[in-house]
Amino acid sequence: MAHDGLNMDIQFLHGVGPKRAELLGKELGISTVGELLRLYPFRYIDKSSFVRIADARPDMAYIQIKARVLRTDLYGNSAAREAINADSNIKFNTIRRMSVWVEDSSGEMEMVFFKGIKWMYERLKPGSEFIFFGKPAAFNGRINIVHPEVDPVSAAPVTGSIIASNTTTGSMTGVYTSTERLKNGGITGKVMNRLMESALTKCLGDVEESLPEYILRQYGLVPIHFALRNIHFPKDLNALEKSKYRLKFEELFYLQLSLLKQKYIRSREEKGIQMSKVGEAFNKCYEALPFPLTGAQKRVITEIRDDMKSGHQMNRLLQGDVGSGKTMVAVLTALIAIGNGFQTCIMAPTEVLAQQHYKNIQKFLAPTGVKSAILTGSSKTAERREVHAGLEDGSIGIIVGTHALIEDNVIFRNLGLAIIDEQHRFGVEQRSKLWRKSSCGAAPHVLVMTATPIPRTLAMTLYGDLDVSVIDELPPGRKPVQTIHATEGKRTAMYNFMRDQIALGRQVFVVYPLIFETEKLDYQSLEEGIEQIVKAFPFPPYKMAVVHGKMTNDEKKFNMDAFAAGRAHILVATSVIEVGVDVPNASVMVIESAERFGLSQLHQLRGRVGRGSEKSFCVLMTGHKLSKESKHRIELMCATENGFELAEEDMKMRGPGDLEGTQQSGLPISLNIASLAKDGLILNAARAAAEAVLEDDPSLTSDKNQMLRRELRKEKYQIRDYSKIS
Ligand code: ADP
Ligand code: MG
Repeated sequence: MAHDGLNMDIQFLHGVGPKRAELLGKELGISTVGELLRLYPFRYIDKSSFVRIADARPDMAYIQIKARVLRTDLYGNSAAREAINADSNIKFNTIRRMSVWVEDSSGEMEMVFFKGIKWMYERLKPGSEFIFFGKPAAFNGRINIVHPEVDPVSAAPVTGSIIASNTTTGSMTGVYTSTERLKNGGITGKVMNRLMESALTKCLGDVEESLPEYILRQYGLVPIHFALRNIHFPKDLNALEKSKYRLKFEELFYLQLSLLKQKYIRSREEKGIQMSKVGEAFNKCYEALPFPLTGAQKRVITEIRDDMKSGHQMNRLLQGDVGSGKTMVAVLTALIAIGNGFQTCIMAPTEVLAQQHYKNIQKFLAPTGVKSAILTGSSKTAERREVHAGLEDGSIGIIVGTHALIEDNVIFRNLGLAIIDEQHRFGVEQRSKLWRKSSCGAAPHVLVMTATPIPRTLAMTLYGDLDVSVIDELPPGRKPVQTIHATEGKRTAMYNFMRDQIALGRQVFVVYPLIFETEKLDYQSLEEGIEQIVKAFPFPPYKMAVVHGKMTNDEKKFNMDAFAAGRAHILVATSVIEVGVDVPNASVMVIESAERFGLSQLHQLRGRVGRGSEKSFCVLMTGHKLSKESKHRIELMCATENGFELAEEDMKMRGPGDLEGTQQSGLPISLNIASLAKDGLILNAARAAAEAVLEDDPSLTSDKNQMLRRELRKEKYQIRDYSKIS
């Protein structure tokens, strides 16, 4: 078979052997030649240009220097020194370090060796010229290179002369991920280049094209052989760019194709409940709204409405920053279901949030006469029984709740819509339980809402088979929140500012980090913080409420209610208020140890203020010393209030896998070369291409698409599905 060479055990590749094979397996997860070929350089070095010694700086990446050897100093124990002085019979096993001084027309520099000393000593004869290649470092106020690669000057063009020259006419050399163990095991950058060269020579012919001819042509992509050769040994910059583009495109194309295929199949094969009218309840609510909907709210409702009347099941993600008016959209969506004779459930991740949703929707439901209820873990048995009955006989139109809603004994008369707030806290299994509660045979429509803005590229990947709606406009009249960074020295000033605000009748949040609820340190910082505040804001006249994760739900609720009702001036809390209270009168959010929060958490917290008509402030308190990343986060927070911008930046800084809200679910597949943070344009093109293919041939049955079908069957495209509920 054609793949034989690719499946060859890496140890049999020329220059590897069992020891290095073990290393490659352990350090890089590579066990076959085919896998080696798919390890792409993460950057390239241009070996055609030289840096003058006088221009070398320790912050430079790899540099190449052409220089003549001046002298060689050996350092070792005293016996070694004597031998060196006598310049006879040097016992190299006693030498610990060799420093080779070299010079070019601009100056002198030291090359340092701790290993392979004998060989280098004999090679680097004073007076002869070499090309030295490595990473400059500062040591004792001078610049040196430790263990440079050394090449003779005669090897021209200079491409790391050992690499066979038939493929390496270019001057760029790939740099691969490496580890200390790999280097110690002799797998240096140069060796890696050499291994790649033999792998290409031996097996490139065995690599089969993985994109159909018509797609290559249509999107101007280079063939796989060209791409693989040039990703490892670029002929020139243009060839490299084309190769990178092709490999990234392919990766993103198949990712999108696999996600979209599920969506296409579902939308064709799975019947949804057709909700053809908006109904009376919707109209009554709409007419009684105290404000006009924003353009974004209107657009989103139209998108939802179109889904619901399509006859297919809706699977839509609704993204909108805190305060963008998602609740309104949820209510109107629920009323469409009700107008068509179906029930709706609204699921929230926490009890507090469920309570709040429930409270918030009452005023909108009042003009409609629709009956709603709430069901949570702390609902009393009697209430529970009543709610169960109301759901079963259909008298309750909208049920708001937590996980309690998916318990087996909850039965709906005809569930037609599930609205899920903050999707990532509901697992697929939990949602599938909900699905089965629909007694009308068809799957209920699903609207997932999130206030954690997810960059579009990530949303397209995480929820590739969901449709995405975005509310990208805040209701009018909202005042921007002024964000201020302050360090410990400003604490007194900050307390004065808090007093001023309280004197104006406002309330203040003070939030402490609490990453793990069991972390002792966090409680310590919370307790110390409380003490500090009690001292600065004594009772009377100041009143303070405290909420933290160790409290029971009742205690939390009691304290939050006190704050919400204005009975306390200050709410001191751990981040449990993140997705919680809505207190329009609170105009100041103080975040302690702000450097310990992630960008999206900070943004969520800040969203707690600025909900009323007063000017609001967010104070980010940090220590004096900040890591580069923390500093960047704080600066971003001060610079923008746009959650999507922050999410994009967050993704750039931390990579998509670590974004909050995605850690638990993770990315559906790991990308080898493409980056969701950087390759948005390629992703768009790849998605459009995948859509075009499926539009034309949804089940990939035509001859020209057999290659796509085959490729999708490969394990790497077997995506864990987050959104599908069946
Ligand atoms: P989200 O759930 O997206 O955080 P909410 O739905 O809670 O936002 O809305 C925030 C506030 O804005 C609420 O007080 C709500 O009544 C109000 N609101 C919603 N839509 C509008 C609108 N179109 N015009 C004015 N105020 C609005
Ligand atoms: Mg809300």
